[in-house]
Amino acid sequence: MLRIGPAGIGGVKEAESKLLEYHKLGFTAAEVSFTYSTYLKKDDAIRIGKLAKKLNIQLSIHGSYYINLNSEDEEKIEKSKDRILGACEIGHYLGAKDIVFHAGYFGKRDKEESYQIIKENLIELQKEVTKNKWDIKLSPETTGKISVFGSLKETLRLAKETNTAFCIDFAHLKARNQGEIDFNEIIKEINHKDFHIHYSGINYGPKGEKNHIPIDVEEFKVLAKALKKYKISGEIICESPEQIKDSIKMREILE
Ligand SMILES: [Zn+2]
Repeated sequence: MLRIGPAGIGGVKEAESKLLEYHKLGFTAAEVSFTYSTYLKKDDAIRIGKLAKKLNIQLSIHGSYYINLNSEDEEKIEKSKDRILGACEIGHYLGAKDIVFHAGYFGKRDKEESYQIIKENLIELQKEVTKNKWDIKLSPETTGKISVFGSLKETLRLAKETNTAFCIDFAHLKARNQGEIDFNEIIKEINHKDFHIHYSGINYGPKGEKNHIPIDVEEFKVLAKALKKYKISGEIICESPEQIKDSIKMREILE
């Protein structure tokens, strides 16, 4: 089954009314945004998670923007890990499945060295998740800028070698590839049946992503067709600036 829904459930006071609204609009997924802070406490998470479950809305979390598992500064790596683990813990209480984050930057290191460092850190994170029995998946995301770790190949290799999950942001892949995107080819390369997805329109330049824009309906039809053809299940999160309007369009296209 492919679920669909927007990014963001609002602040702690409005989260439940938002979920009820999403349910009325036929959404079956939603991503909680911890991009600037892990703003839910354990009790809130349990309460909101219960309602989401009752409404059949699968939650996920977008982790902090301040993460770099390849920093040259050990302290920054530790802080990044703490932020990810904080999101994992609350995610567990929310009943969230994927904890999505951008794994890191290359900085001065070359790509392979960066890959190995990120991999080591991700393995340590997974150990903590297992130790704490948090029922979530660590899901590094494909990023939109060429200078940032997270190409499709890097993301898939990381998932395979660390036995974690991943998030495919098709808009980011499009931006990395200067607007060219073959959804069928990408889905074949992914070679998994169930994964977490981000989608929106995107502005890009020579270095990749500039900003997210509303969806291109014709383009999403092609993606929806490809996802159905390969019998993909998972959640599609709409990261368009017009997320409600576009989530509705995407839901209608999928149906
Ligand atoms: Zn994304």
